[in-house]
Amino acid sequence: MRYSKPRSEKEAADILFAEEGMTKILAGGTDILVQMKSGMIKPDLILDIKGIPGIKDITEVNGGYEIGAAVSGSEFNNHSGLKLFAPGIAEAFDLIGSAQIQGRCTIVGNLCNASPAADTVPALLTSNCVAKIVGPSGTRKCAINKILVGPGETSLKKGEFITSIFIPPRDGFSADAYLRFTPRSEMDIAVVAASVFLTLDNSGFCTNARVSLGAVAPTAININGVAKLLVGSKLEKDVLSKLSQICSDSCDPIDDKRGTKMFRSHVAGVLAKRAAVVAYKRAGEKSE
Ligand SMILES: Cc1cc2nc3c(=O)[nH]c(=O)nc-3n(C[C@H](O)[C@H](O)[C@H](O)COP(=O)(O)OP(=O)(O)OC[C@H]3O[C@@H](n4cnc5c(N)ncnc54)[C@H](O)[C@@H]3O)c2cc1C
Repeated sequence: MRYSKPRSEKEAADILFAEEGMTKILAGGTDILVQMKSGMIKPDLILDIKGIPGIKDITEVNGGYEIGAAVSGSEFNNHSGLKLFAPGIAEAFDLIGSAQIQGRCTIVGNLCNASPAADTVPALLTSNCVAKIVGPSGTRKCAINKILVGPGETSLKKGEFITSIFIPPRDGFSADAYLRFTPRSEMDIAVVAASVFLTLDNSGFCTNARVSLGAVAPTAININGVAKLLVGSKLEKDVLSKLSQICSDSCDPIDDKRGTKMFRSHVAGVLAKRAAVVAYKRAGEKSE
């Protein structure tokens, strides 16, 4: 096994493109080291991206935030502006592992490991985040849902890697929220997860809404029909019941010892409803 630590994006893309064996990108290493130790993977090349200038930066850009691919959970959550700006992404990121894991784990690693239960992914989806991808033919931008293909699989092409994630600016009174269900409160992966993003007008009516679910399908999923239901409402009881039903009906989960299909589908509806209430309260507080 070889180890490489390139000093530029271009050098990294060239090395990735030229490599013929199995390559793993080392961001925090909290997925790949576990996979290597347990014999699940045996990479020929480990490419450490942390020597690339700017890859650990958090930058405010046009009212949004660009998060470098090597920014850790603790760096994200200790940033003065980010927790306020994107509380739902922050709480999803904060749920990953323990304090030790937080010091290493990254959003991009969470996304590219492509677990259906990855905590940050539903939150990235509802916030309409965009990945910046560098490859042999230059730089391109890609919506998060286009990166998700299936368990353990992304749409990144040979030689490509993600250099940052952009969290777009938010209109007026907007907020997000993320909730997950796990049998244990810490150090466990989601059995079901829900993320909700809402925008309100200054009278408290919803003007925009997005909902995503995690761990209930091969990838995290955006729920269709949510905006139509929520826009124009103040999340009244009947609206929340319908939201819950739409979410439960949209699930296609696995059946295993951690949760049956019926249980996961039911809990998805409950969590979506609760996360919507949290996002609504947060957005409302901005208008006060
Ligand atoms: C004890 C423990 C608890 C955990 N708890 C949780 C949890 O609660 N929730 C959860 O979702 N996960 C959890 N995880 C999994 C893991 O910590 C997260 O998925 C983490 O975000 C991975 O980030 P990383 O930087 O460590 O990724 P790495 O291990 O460095 O990389 C993961 C994958 O992403 C690819 N990759 C990394 N960076 C890039 C890039 N820039 N471009 C393209 N591909 C890239 C790598 O090739 C690899 O396939 C846990 C892990 C451990 C060990």
